[in-house]
Formats: sequence, C-alpha cells, structure tokens
Amino acid sequence: MIQTGAREGAWDAQADVVIVGFGGAGAACAITAADAGASVLILEKAPEGEEGGNTRVAAQGYLNPSSPERAIIYMNALCGPYTVPQDMIAVWADEMCRNNDWLRSIGGDPQEHQHQPAGIEFPELPGSDCVHKYHHGDILGYSKTWEMIAQAVRERPVAIRYATPARRLIQDPATGEILGVQAEHAGKTLRIKAAHAVVLTCGGFENNQEMIRNFLPGVPYCYTSGTPYNEGDGIRMGMEVGADLWHMNNFAGPSMALKVPEYPATFSMVPLHFSHEPAGGMIVVGPDGNRFVDEKYKLRHGKIWQSGKWMGLRPPCPMYMIFDETLRTAGPIYDGKPTHGWTQLMTRYAWSADNSAEIQRGWIKTAPTLDALARALKLPEGSLSQSAARWNGLCAQGIDEDFGRTKMLAPVGPGPYYAVEISPTMLNTQGGPRRNAQAQIVRPDGTPIPRLYSAGELGSIYSYMYQGTGNIGECFAFGRIAARHALTLAPW
Ligand SMILES: Cc1cc2nc3c(=O)[nH]c(=O)nc-3n(C[C@H](O)[C@H](O)[C@H](O)COP(=O)(O)OP(=O)(O)OC[C@H]3O[C@@H](n4cnc5c(N)ncnc54)[C@H](O)[C@@H]3O)c2cc1C
Repeated sequence: MIQTGAREGAWDAQADVVIVGFGGAGAACAITAADAGASVLILEKAPEGEEGGNTRVAAQGYLNPSSPERAIIYMNALCGPYTVPQDMIAVWADEMCRNNDWLRSIGGDPQEHQHQPAGIEFPELPGSDCVHKYHHGDILGYSKTWEMIAQAVRERPVAIRYATPARRLIQDPATGEILGVQAEHAGKTLRIKAAHAVVLTCGGFENNQEMIRNFLPGVPYCYTSGTPYNEGDGIRMGMEVGADLWHMNNFAGPSMALKVPEYPATFSMVPLHFSHEPAGGMIVVGPDGNRFVDEKYKLRHGKIWQSGKWMGLRPPCPMYMIFDETLRTAGPIYDGKPTHGWTQLMTRYAWSADNSAEIQRGWIKTAPTLDALARALKLPEGSLSQSAARWNGLCAQGIDEDFGRTKMLAPVGPGPYYAVEISPTMLNTQGGPRRNAQAQIVRPDGTPIPRLYSAGELGSIYSYMYQGTGNIGECFAFGRIAARHALTLAPW
C-alpha cells in the first residue's frame, strides 16, 4: 500500500529481515538470516500450535537433485514449451543441489526415500535421472522434516509473532522501497519496520475460492488437504505494491476427496487411492450419473495422460463415490494415517471403523437400492443402476474398455448402497508474485521492487508439470537465496 510519510512515524517493532509466514520457506530464510548475524522477526497468521503451513503437514520429502546440469534439463522439460528464464532455472538447479548440505549444517539427517526410482514423477523426460528425494530422520512423513527445521529456528534468536497476519506492505511512495509490514494482532494494527527487507513466505491461495475461480483451470471450486491459513494474502499484498504474477494457473491438483463443512481440509478416501484395493465395488460418477475417469488413476499431482499430453484432470462437480455394502463393512473409507495432511495430523478426526458414525452425520448417504440412491442425490432417474450394470459387465470381461481402470475391478455387489460427495482437492497452488534469480519480487517490466523478496510456493518456479518434493526443496533453496541477497542491502 502506498503510504505518504511512510518512513516517519512510530514503529511497533523492527528487525533486519521481516519474514511473513512460518512454513518451510520462512524457516529456511530465518535460519540463514539469523546465522548471518541479522535480527529476524517472523509474522505468522496461525495461532501458536497451528504454524508450519503446508510444510508441517506435507509428506516431508524435499528434492536434492544429483547434478545441476541434469536438473536444468529436467526443469526445462517439466516446463514444456513455455520456459522459465534460464538464469532462474540455473540458480534453482544449483541451489537445490545444496539442500542436503544445508540440512546437515543445521543438524539435520538427510535420508533418501526408499522407493527410488519410483519417486521420479516423469521418468520419460530428459534429465529425470537427477531426481533424488530426501527427508529428515528415519521415517518419512509425520511432520519430521518440519519439526527439525522449526526447532532450528527456535534455537536461534528469531522473534516469532503468532496470530499476527501481515495485512499490507508499507512502501515508500518516492522510491518504491518496501519499508516494512502492517500487521494485525488481537484487533490492533502494528507497524513493523524491516531495515533490510521483507520476505513473503506466506504460501498460496488454497483457501481462497474467489482466486481459485479466477485462476485455476478446470475446477469451479477446490479444497485443500493442507493448512487452512493460506488464503492468497501474499498475492494481494504483492499486487498492491506493483508485483507481476506468474504460474497462477498451476497447482498440485486436482485429485478427489471428501470435504465436509465442519472441517477446513479434505478427507482422503481409501478406495480412491491408487495403491489401496479394499474389498467391494466402487465407482465415481458425475452429475449425469455416469463414470468419467479411471477412479484409481495414479495422478501426477493432478495431471493425467490425455491426448498424448499430461493435463489436469477436469472433474465434473458434484461427483459421487458410489459403493456397496461389502466395501462399507471392509473398514473405514477414510485414510486417517497421520503421515501427512491437515485432517490427519491436525484435526485428527476419529472416523468410525464401520463408517456408521459418518452415515449418521450425513457425510455418507445410503439407500436400499441404486435407483433410490440416485433419487436421493438428485441424479437422473435410473442412472446409477445403469452405470453400475455397465461397470459390472466390464468387471466380468476383466477389462475397463471405458476408462482403462486396472485396480479394484470388482463389481458393485448387493446393497444397501452408499454415496459420498467427492470434491476436487489439491495440495497447494504454485502461483504468486513473480520472482527473479535473487528471489526478489519483480514488477511487470522485470525490475525488482526494492527490499521485497519471496520464497516457497508463493510464486513458485513450477509453471506446468511438477516433480514431487520440488516444493519443499524450493522453499529451502529460495529461502536461503532471499536471506543472503537481502543482507547485501544497506539497512535504511
Ligand atoms: C498433504 C500435503 C503433502 C505434501 N507433500 C509434499 C512433499 O512431500 N514434498 C514437497 O516438496 N511438497 C509437498 N507438499 C507441498 C508443500 O508442502 C508446500 O508447497 C510447501 O510446504 C510450501 O511451503 P511454504 O513455506 O511456501 O508455505 P507454507 O508451509 O504453507 O507456510 C505458509 C505460512 O504462512 C502463513 N501465512 C499465511 N498468510 C499469512 C499472513 N497474511 N501473514 C502471516 N502469515 C501468513 C501460514 O499460516 C503458514 O504458516 C505437500 C502439501 C500437502 C498439503
């Protein structure tokens, strides 16, 4: 926000580097700045105990490619015909290859994922052999990498203000410099001075349905399995001071999950997992009552192979997962294992073993026949029994001629029958203010907005295809780059 007389007036707090958002990117930036001797203040929107953003509930993997040269080739291939500037890719590749060294230097214990090379998301692309995925400690998931870096922040002289969302950037109207941040705490407005720079690490717009409608392709709405606190604030703040935007239409989704109004994040459904095959029959239908996809697709972070290309799944909303009594009694349809996901790790909802509590809650609808279920869901008369009959015929044949499903080729058996409304869900968005190779946020003409930086998924480098573990790897890499460059500036 342009403020006249912005330099004058009282400041409620100040630091060399003011970081907006305490997730992976904010942590990497804070550690690097503090170790260089700078004073650091983190503003975090969530109350204490709910900080950490998507990083905290992620699967905890981060990318450390084996060679910068191969990583450059792979990143160019991931971009497809559109290319992120080469200087940006070169810096990304070089810094990503230093992630393990950095984690070790702050007391971490990098361990390579066991399922290599399965973790290479697009093995057919040139350079993909550079992919090496790591996590901290002896087990993947369970917030382990996050806990390690969060602890490293807490061990350093870094001030953290919880429940204190940044609302606006304070910009000098004469020079365009970012002088600090206007934040809010307990209804009070605070002015925080940043002597060197402000670094925005406040994540994407996973919880902002208006931005989702404006920017994400193919989804009329979408929910998240991550933090509820990422609401696109960094995008709004960046735009107010003249930032360009990039990669706004790229996101790690959609996939399909249950969303209920009572809880902020989505519930992962066991029968829809590629790797799980519970007993019983299940199909997913759109508003016409017909199947539209291989329900057991192994999605590449939302992308599926269509017309010779990796493209985003286009989910027809509303969608329903329809299943039979055998599947209902086979165990909970919710995958509550607390390896990753906000619902699993933070909400910790205890789903009933036989799904009966969720039937009582109305999250699962039931009817004695498929025709009655179709009527209850307001689907076309007879559509569910027709779709189930078609599916059962394909199962008898042993081949899904319609969508090529190869998993859970089990017919929809005897009732009663059940339906769960399925929504598009994502891990995270990739778009935000455009940054350059020094992690500076730039204007549409490419010039940096002085003293303003970003890191992490807010304006991520990923423009199209995405390699899993790339986001946290990028948080670490650009968190460090932002801190280092910010500290080359003379304080004001
Ligand atoms: C379930 C799940 C699994 C995933 N698994 C992986 C994985 O294994 N590997 C990988 O690389 N990626 C994974 N991802 C993606 C990855 O977690 C994120 O892209 C990455 O962690 C983003 O880090 P960040 O620091 O940019 O943002 P976040 O970690 O989301 O942190 C942003 C912080 O900013 C705060 N904030 C928001 N607005 C404001 C404001 N106005 N003022 C102050 N603070 C604010 C938020 O509360 C939050 O704490 C996963 C995501 C999910 C949801």
